[in-house]
Amino acid sequence: LTAEEQDVIDEIDEKNVDFLRLQFTDILGTVKNVSVPASQAEKAFTEGIYFDGSSIDGFVRIQESDMRLDPDPSTFAVLPWRNGDSTGGAAARLICDVVDTSTGEPFSGDPRGVLKSAIERAEEMGYSVNMAPEPEFFLFEEDEEGRATTKTNDAGGYFDLAPKDLAQDVRRDIIYGLESMGFDIEASHHEVAQGQHEINFTYDDALSTADNVATFRAVVRAIAAEHDLHATFMPKPIARINGSGMHTHMSLFTEDGENAFHDDDDEFNLSDTAKSYLAGVLEHAPAITAIADPTVNSYKRLVPGYEAPVYVAWSDRNRSALIRKPAARVPAASRIELRSPDPSCNPYLAFAAMIHAGLDGIEQDLDCPDPVRENIYEFDEAKREEYGITTLPSNLGEAVDALEANETIKSALGEHVTEKFIEAKTQEFGEYIVEVSEWELDRYLEKY
Ligand code: GLN
Ligand code: MG
Ligand code: MG
Ligand code: MG
Repeated sequence: LTAEEQDVIDEIDEKNVDFLRLQFTDILGTVKNVSVPASQAEKAFTEGIYFDGSSIDGFVRIQESDMRLDPDPSTFAVLPWRNGDSTGGAAARLICDVVDTSTGEPFSGDPRGVLKSAIERAEEMGYSVNMAPEPEFFLFEEDEEGRATTKTNDAGGYFDLAPKDLAQDVRRDIIYGLESMGFDIEASHHEVAQGQHEINFTYDDALSTADNVATFRAVVRAIAAEHDLHATFMPKPIARINGSGMHTHMSLFTEDGENAFHDDDDEFNLSDTAKSYLAGVLEHAPAITAIADPTVNSYKRLVPGYEAPVYVAWSDRNRSALIRKPAARVPAASRIELRSPDPSCNPYLAFAAMIHAGLDGIEQDLDCPDPVRENIYEFDEAKREEYGITTLPSNLGEAVDALEANETIKSALGEHVTEKFIEAKTQEFGEYIVEVSEWELDRYLEKY
């Protein structure tokens, strides 16, 4: 056992942990877990835990289904909603890498492995990657049977305080839960829409941050449920009000800890490296959208008028652009913010796509266009053309087409994930397209 693994074994003892949940995510970003008694911890570290991968979405075909989970000791955390009481011991989770037992290599269908490859590519180029997401979510009431409704439990708005912000207690408990799992919370506030919230945690390396997003969603849902509320990361649960985004801030640091995105002398404080990275993300934006906005519903959010991006441009001033350069007080904080991702995405795959897009921009030494300082929502087509501004895909079908046409993002995901992802999303969009909605019936049933 390594020292870090031994520390976990000691902590299991100290914290009276009975069960370990060994976690990983499937291609769609759903957290899966295999529960083992805590007595198996040593074996899990030394030999790994074997499981049948054939029943996991998008994993493997039946005949090649033996997978192994290798737990990452740095991800050990006691679950705040199962932290031990008179009825039993605590449960803790460990996030795992998935290994293909037939080759002994990382399994190419493991999203965490896909992100690790992106990070390795950055490292080979001399950079570490920092990410900070801003996941937004809604809290809804449950009905008598405990099922989710779309009735918000408050009528507050942006940064409102109690008594309007009835969710204050829930949000406080969520924050305690996150902190107990090692999160460093920076801020939390009521978002623009009624019933909508945002909790920000500090930036970290890309892998830890993706792990954090997966954990964040689980903690928010579990603690909301303790308050008889349903937390949802669905991007646009209610029409005609703001949806939920997951703005993602990113920067590259050099091996000696300098921010490679910062330049004191540049008018935007962005280095040439940052600008080529930014240009790469713009270049690959339509294909990234398939991964970062992966549901039919995601495209109900990406429409003008609700603070979500529609146009492929960047800005140092306004928030109608796809990428924003936030003001930075210190050099370490110079970064860019991609505003398209929503919290229904698989964070491992979304981050991998963004990183490869940016690195491709650096490798190709792409030129960064000028920032757009006006409100792009107000541009007409002619003006957009004049500025060279294109639009994001307007539905999941278009996004999947953009992904299919983009070799850079496909190779970022690898063949296995690309194939399974496109298959799943083509089917999802196909099912949606044949549905007849309430809106259509209201509009046409009596008219024709
Ligand atoms: N909810 C908005 C979105 O969909 C973002 C609002 C904000 O954080 N300013 O992206
Ligand atoms: Mg925010
Ligand atoms: Mg926000
Ligand atoms: Mg933001």
